[in-house]
Amino acid sequence: MTIDFNCQQCDASFEIEIGEILEGDPIVCPNCGQKAARKISEELGNALDELLAKVAELRPKFLLALTIESDDLPAPYDEEPAEEEEEEEEESEEEDEGYEDDDEDEDEDEDEDEDEER
Ligand SMILES: [Zn+2]
Repeated sequence: MTIDFNCQQCDASFEIEIGEILEGDPIVCPNCGQKAARKISEELGNALDELLAKVAELRPKFLLALTIESDDLPAPYDEEPAEEEEEEEEESEEEDEGYEDDDEDEDEDEDEDEDEER
């Protein structure tokens, strides 16, 4: 089971195993290296975990199929979030990344990835 992604920066399409999302792995474009904020990747994993738990709970009575498309979200999610302001405040980009502040993850590989990106 995978999730299809389409990079808003370079328009590349790629898939990520849902298991990786559940584990909180960062969402990174394999083509241009654009990353989702770590917090958002982790929270997506947590949200999916809860959703899947409920689907499993429901399974004895109902089977379901669910399609989620960013372009077709119901209200109130059908409007762009305020995060789009990033482009107006270029100086704030360093704060948004915030990977270095993550004390829980002492994996040095993360830092190497960032260097490659620049
Ligand atoms: Zn990309």
